[in-house]
This record gives sequence, C-alpha cells and structure tokens, in this order.
Amino acid sequence: SKAVQAESAFLFYSEEMNQRAKEHLRIESELRQALQHDELQLYYQPKVSLRSGRIVGAEALLRWRHPVRGLVSPGVFIPVAEETGLILELGNWVLEEACRQVRAWKDANLIMPPIAVNLSARQFDRQLPARMADVLQRHQVHPEQIMLEITESLLVRGTENVVAIMNELVAMGLALALDDFGTGYSSLAYLKKFPISTLKIDRSFVIGLPYEENDCAIARAIVTMAQQLRQEIVAEGVETAEQMSFLRELGCDQLQGYLFSQPVPADDFERMLREGKRLAFGAR
Ligand code: C2E
Ligand code: MG
Ligand code: MG
Ligand code: MG
Repeated sequence: SKAVQAESAFLFYSEEMNQRAKEHLRIESELRQALQHDELQLYYQPKVSLRSGRIVGAEALLRWRHPVRGLVSPGVFIPVAEETGLILELGNWVLEEACRQVRAWKDANLIMPPIAVNLSARQFDRQLPARMADVLQRHQVHPEQIMLEITESLLVRGTENVVAIMNELVAMGLALALDDFGTGYSSLAYLKKFPISTLKIDRSFVIGLPYEENDCAIARAIVTMAQQLRQEIVAEGVETAEQMSFLRELGCDQLQGYLFSQPVPADDFERMLREGKRLAFGAR
C-alpha cells in the first residue's frame, strides 16, 4: 500500500542520510589528523601564455596523501571541509605553504610567475586582508607573487562588504581571479562592480570546443566581454590542440590544462620553470 511504500522510502532515505553523515564525520576527523600529521601537499599546475607559449603562472591545488586511501581528491574533501568550517584551517595551511614555497623558490634564484591560491567563500571575511598581510610578511613574499582565485558564489553574496574587502586586497597588491566562470550567475553589469583582473572560463565550456556550437558561442561571448572589461582570460581544462587553436584565435590570453601539464609536485614544476618548458603551437 501507499503508506508502507512511503514508510520504507523514508527508512531507506534516512539510512542513506545516516551513511552520508557518518562518512562526513569520518572525513572531518581524518582531515584534522591530516593537518597535524603532514598529509597535505600542494601540487602546481602551470598557466601558459597563448602568445608566447611560456609559463606565466601556476595554480596551487591541494592534495591529501591519506595513509590508507592514497591520494584523495579535493573534490571529495573540500566540500566536507566547507560544511564543517575546517576549511578555515585548511585554507590557512594552503596560504602558509604557498608562501613558504614561493620564498624557497625565490631563494633558489628562480624567476617566479604569480602563484594562484584557491579561496573558499568562507575564508572571505573582514580579517582576510590582515591575515594575508601577516602571512606575506612572515615569509617575505611580495603580494604581486600571489593571486587569489575566488568563485561566483562570493559575488552573488554581493554585499558592499565583499567589494570593500576585495578593494583592500587589491590595494595591497594582490590580484583576484574569478574561477569557474560561467557556471554561476554573474552578469556583465554585475562583474563591473568587482576589482577582478582575471576570468577563468570553466572547463565545462572548453570541453566541447571547437565542435559544439553552444560552447563556441559561450567561449566567444566570455572572451569578448573580458576584453571589454580589460580582464585577462584563462581557459581551464584545455586537453586538445584543437581546443587550444580555437581559444588562441578567439584572443584568449592563457591556457591551463592537461594539454600542457597536469598539476604536479613542486619539484616537477620547478624543473619545468628551469628548463623553460613551452607550449608548442604547431603548424598553423
Ligand atoms: P579549480 O580551482 O577549478 O581547479 C581546477 C581543477 O581542474 C583541478 O582539479 C585541476 O586538476 C583540474 N584540471 C585542470 N586541467 C584539467 C584538464 O585538462 N582536464 C581535466 N579533466 N581536469 C583538469 P582538482 O585539483 O581536483 O581540484 C578540484 C577543485 O577543488 C578546484 O577546482 C577547487 O575548487 C578545489 N580546490 C583545490 N585546491 C583547493 C584549495 O587549496 N582551497 C580551496 N578552497 N579549494 C581547492
Ligand atoms: Mg581554481
Ligand atoms: Mg576552476
Ligand atoms: Mg573548474
């Protein structure tokens, strides 16, 4: 009968919720240990210029080397960390580690392009500029060395507060990039309000290039808009030479994706910089 069906559906549902809750708790407590036991690591994925083919930046991406599970993807643990508030500690660890690494590379006489760090919306509060100033100062890192990647969810929160904090960060010399662009709700008029210097076209619009009409139209619109706002534009998740050629012809500034390199450990990234690894555009 209907009642029995409804009841078993409820039992099934709550059992599933129970499992999810347990899984979250487990990840949360293991993440706390990870912070203490040095199980976290930053990988670096180069950003390359579509004009020169040279490495002009990199994004720092968090990795968790779990003693039993091996390498755990941020797609699994970042959402849990966001939910539990642990993202604040993780985020601080990331900023600390990125600055420590940049300092070490500078000390080793490497010519360093800016390194981008992902910020969760929860890290974006009144104290952020002071925290940034503190970590930069302690590691003696110049603010121009660090870029902050934020997502549209922060803009949609859209208070004067957010704009004021962004202005403070930019006044300090930090650059802001808008990550996963196109997946949220920001419009052209909206974007103008924020001091953002770089737009990153989300991978979901790059995948279909150059064969999917819709993806081509979206990529074209984003690049045109970014040019009008004088923003740098980075395409995420570029995997094929066809995608690269299309983006290059559109006037996209930079590419980040497996075509050039996956995210790699610090030593491997350092080697690429030293060897001057470049993107080959091929015969055109
Ligand atoms: P994101 O910031 O958009 O980072 C780009 C993601 O795309 C990375 O996944 C990268 O490995 C992946 N990617 C880059 N090129 C390609 C490609 O050509 N093909 C494919 N299939 N994937 C590509 P990853 O490292 O798994 O990170 C996933 C997300 O986790 C990030 O997306 C970011 O939102 C979040 N995340 C990573 N590290 C941090 C962190 O330190 N703090 C915070 N708050 N979030 C982080
Ligand atoms: Mg990012
Ligand atoms: Mg992204
Ligand atoms: Mg993305």
